[in-house]
Amino acid sequence: MFVGGNRQCYRPFPMAAKTAFTKKELDDLRKRLLEEKEQLQVQLSTIEEATFATSQSELSGEVSFDDENADAGTFTFERERDLSIENNVRDLLRKIDRALARMDDGTFGICSRCGKPIEKARLKALPYADLCIKDAQAQTRSR
Ligand SMILES: [Zn+2]
Repeated sequence: MFVGGNRQCYRPFPMAAKTAFTKKELDDLRKRLLEEKEQLQVQLSTIEEATFATSQSELSGEVSFDDENADAGTFTFERERDLSIENNVRDLLRKIDRALARMDDGTFGICSRCGKPIEKARLKALPYADLCIKDAQAQTRSR
C-alpha cells in the first residue's frame, strides 16, 4: 500500500523490524491470537445457533407478536444487535487471521500503510493491529 511520490522511501519490510519482538514475545502473542480466535469462533457459532433457532420458531409460528407488541420490538432489536456483533466478530477473525499469516511470513508488527514497525505497546494491547498509532488515527479521522 505505497502511494507514489513518497520520497522518504521506507523499505516496505525492513529486516530490523523483525527483531522488534523476541521469539518468546512472538510466541506469546501468537498464543493470545489463537485463544482469541477460538473464543470468537465459539461466540460466532452461538450467534448463528441463536439466529437459526429464531428463524425456526418464526417459521413454525411459535413466536406470536399479536399479544405482546412490546416484545416484538425488543425481539427485532436483539436480532439486529446480534447481526452487528456477528459482523464485528467476523471482522476481528479476519484481522487475527491476517496477523497470524504475517507472523508466518515474518512481516508481523509492520505497519501495512507506512511500513514502519508498529509500536510494541500497541501490539501488546492489540496483537492483531496492522497499522501504527499514527496511521490508525489517520484512518479513523478519514472515515
Ligand atoms: Zn504506519
